[in-house]
Amino acid sequence: MGRSALLLGALPARPQARGDGVIYWFRTDLRVGDNLALAAASASAARLLPVYCHDPAADTPTRWGFTRRGAHRRTFLDAALTDLDAALRARGSRLLQVRGAAADVLPALARALGTDRVACEAIAAPEEVDELASLRAAGLQVQAVWQSTMLDPGLLPFEVEALPKVFTDFRRAVEMAGVLPAAPLAPLAALPPCPSLDQLPGMVQVGGGPCQALRPERGYEGCGEAAFPWWRPEFAGGERAALAHLASYFASARPRHYKVTRNGLSGVDFSSKFSPWLAQGALSPRVVFAALRRHEAEQGASDGSYWLWFELLWRDYFRFLHLQHGRRLYRARGLGDGASPPAHDPAAFEAWCAGRTGQAFVDAGMRELAATGWLSNRMRQVVASYLIHDLGCDWRAGAAWFEAQLVDYDTYSNQGNWLYIAGRGTDPRGGRRFDPDGQAARYDADGDYRARWLGAHRHAGRSA
Ligand SMILES: Cc1cc2nc3c(=O)[nH]c(=O)nc-3n(C[C@H](O)[C@H](O)[C@H](O)COP(=O)(O)OP(=O)(O)OC[C@H]3O[C@@H](n4cnc5c(N)ncnc54)[C@H](O)[C@@H]3O)c2cc1C
Repeated sequence: MGRSALLLGALPARPQARGDGVIYWFRTDLRVGDNLALAAASASAARLLPVYCHDPAADTPTRWGFTRRGAHRRTFLDAALTDLDAALRARGSRLLQVRGAAADVLPALARALGTDRVACEAIAAPEEVDELASLRAAGLQVQAVWQSTMLDPGLLPFEVEALPKVFTDFRRAVEMAGVLPAAPLAPLAALPPCPSLDQLPGMVQVGGGPCQALRPERGYEGCGEAAFPWWRPEFAGGERAALAHLASYFASARPRHYKVTRNGLSGVDFSSKFSPWLAQGALSPRVVFAALRRHEAEQGASDGSYWLWFELLWRDYFRFLHLQHGRRLYRARGLGDGASPPAHDPAAFEAWCAGRTGQAFVDAGMRELAATGWLSNRMRQVVASYLIHDLGCDWRAGAAWFEAQLVDYDTYSNQGNWLYIAGRGTDPRGGRRFDPDGQAARYDADGDYRARWLGAHRHAGRSA
């Protein structure tokens, strides 16, 4: 992909449309603030139909035997869609939620509206790229805008095809060149009117009612102290809660201590907890960066505030890696052309998912994940390493389980981190094995974390 094609916000000023109707297809950009694709589409359309497609494939079991999206993420998503609908209504529009794959829904809606134009964000993962290809094959003109990174890929000090293999080299090159994120767009004050559709062409409309509050599975001690309690209003999905959390985080001393607390396992404060909102696109990474800069101006820069930038650069790096390698990142062997295919042990995988491997630290993590849809970065590394390097299972099965469970599931970060730990990505160091006993001794010395998720009686006498 050439540099100019990747500049953020590359929508034409005015679409060459049949009529002035445009469908805006929300994907993982569920916000009205700093949404380049939405702003460009709004500026150029006389009528704009905002749509979200609930693809039934997300709720259908895959080859691994479970659905792609579990109940936690589904509920967190529903909250974001409810919030987005309210934000659109406040701007003279609304969100149409339809059950069906985008490849079926959007062409039918376009016919009903008498338009052939669709605008959306660009996503550089294989299934999402294929979705756009299907829409174009159906005769639609799709304007897809790259907008999910903090940094504009067109302004990197190298072509994205020449992205450094090692993260540290990437970070140093960016910092030496002084590349910084652009200022976020001001929130949209109004949207073009929404065309009225008396009848949806053979479609099932979804949503519109209050969001059903799902509770974490009963029977686990400690859910009251969950690290990301998305069932509480202040951690709900959607832009409103995201911006409130962002403001409260940067007004506090938490960023200053981030570098020393970020490897924590329990509680809401040890890390920023931005990822669930970033993943659903309720929060723009440029808005996060702007808030980080304001925090530094008001409270002073610190190791902690620098380390937040550092981690957000990891997020960008995995996205740029997708622009560079695309679907090669999704092969069983990853980028290792000569690598042998991964082994797999279905019984061991099942035990891992259920938190019944017999390795107490790993089991505690897997139970926290199943109960709450969340796991700290430290525990993600420990359980992923254990699955691959100790249980001898296929890294793609682990990535699929995370996809189903995590409320912050993000295809770029998930795929990138799993490949990294499996040693099948770009990093030449050949994988990362974390010794679970050593990790438990360092990060859960008093055994509190294991006791919380396994129950004190189950923890007694177990390894580590
Ligand atoms: C096996 C594995 C799978 C993962 N899957 C996901 C996923 O599906 N979605 C996801 O958002 N993150 C994923 N991560 C990365 C990381 O664990 C989470 O981003 C982080 O724990 C989120 O918590 P936080 O927002 O409090 O992060 P903080 O520590 O506060 O970091 C701030 C932000 O930096 C970014 N960031 C931090 N660490 C990483 C990282 N290792 N890779 C990429 N970005 C990072 C995130 O956007 C995060 O919100 C995965 C990590 C591993 C090891």
